[in-house]
Amino acid sequence: MSGIFSYLKAMKKLLLLIMTIMTVLIVSGCNTETEKKHKLRVCASFFAVYDIARQIGGDRIEIKNLVPEGVEPHDWEPSVKAMISIENSDVFVYNGLGIEGFAEKIRESQGSELIFVEASEGCKILYGYEDHDDEHDHDKHDKEEGDISDADPHVWLDPDNAAKEAENICAAFCRADPENAEYYNENLENFRKKASDLNNAYKNALGDLENKELIVSHRAYGYICSAYGLTQEAVEGMGSGGDPSPRRIREIYDNIRKNNIDCIFYESLTGSRIAETISEDMGIDMYPITAFEGRNAEQRKQDFDYFDAMYMNLESLEKGLGDADDIGS
Ligand SMILES: [Zn+2]
Repeated sequence: MSGIFSYLKAMKKLLLLIMTIMTVLIVSGCNTETEKKHKLRVCASFFAVYDIARQIGGDRIEIKNLVPEGVEPHDWEPSVKAMISIENSDVFVYNGLGIEGFAEKIRESQGSELIFVEASEGCKILYGYEDHDDEHDHDKHDKEEGDISDADPHVWLDPDNAAKEAENICAAFCRADPENAEYYNENLENFRKKASDLNNAYKNALGDLENKELIVSHRAYGYICSAYGLTQEAVEGMGSGGDPSPRRIREIYDNIRKNNIDCIFYESLTGSRIAETISEDMGIDMYPITAFEGRNAEQRKQDFDYFDAMYMNLESLEKGLGDADDIGS
């Protein structure tokens, strides 16, 4: 008899154990299911598109930025870890127009599940970018109008283009996560409104400036110049290239004298070393400007977004290009 009792006891224990295991499995299964539904996993190539994407995605997305914030995206190559981040996401956002050379390669090698957003699609694009490169460019060919390799990639610096990029990103989020489409569209409307205010602020402030020429270190401001009637001259050419040649420095100094230029703009991301030398040599002012390809430590602390960056640029442009007599020198 006692044999049967202990057998039944053991069976009861076994049954309880099986039920416990099944409950745990069901509950944890439900959890991953709901988490998947709530957070869209987004990966963005570098800070400008990362910031626009986070403004559209808000708290409904989990977003990762690939190029470290203190680094320029030109010529950056992804690590194995970065490649895994891309593979593990639902949506990959990049600017396009050649600024992220790696993005096209990934797009070709990826399966159909990952949604790719080329944010600059449909933006107003400026051509003739490569033609201005200095004597270091040995591969220079005559580019035809409309050749993508000759496009200026910094489209987001025109507020209308930034709104277009936000629209492309929003469309991808809605496709990948239709349940939150209303939320993403509301954020897009908000972004459009802010971009339109920004555009008006630039038009009002830069309409009748004394000086029209920007001396900058990174040739990234073609879109601001084109939209608001300014011109730019870059000391360092594009990207994070090395120091300018003595010949280039002489040209810049001649230009400053000839055109009575009284200020130089330095890249807030990469620092002011060369601008400082020029500013001291020529006795001119210097102001920060950013192409918003990343943020410096201070801007990170303040969680600088696209609009903060663009208003900082506007303030510098007003101070630097405004009538020196009005400032009271
Ligand atoms: Zn750039």
